[in-house]
Amino acid sequence: MSHAEETVRGAAPNVDTREIDPTTPFDRDTDDRRVIGCYCCSCEATATILAEPGRTREWEHADRHPTHVIDYWREDNSDTNQLI
Ligand SMILES: [Zn+2]
Repeated sequence: MSHAEETVRGAAPNVDTREIDPTTPFDRDTDDRRVIGCYCCSCEATATILAEPGRTREWEHADRHPTHVIDYWREDNSDTNQLI
């Protein structure tokens, strides 16, 4: 009889789980008006974009510099709105 070792994964404190997510705030909540912060990790350019409902086009910086790695985040809602 083997004894089972169960690892209980409870609430880990402050685990920064930044998963690679192919979607951006431009792809989510497209019915809402969104304030989206943009930061380019490659050249340190920044922008704040007010995305009207229906907008899915990303920061034009991404078009002009397809190789740059850009971070996007919502600036207008602090609560997580992704648990629908
Ligand atoms: Zn850039």
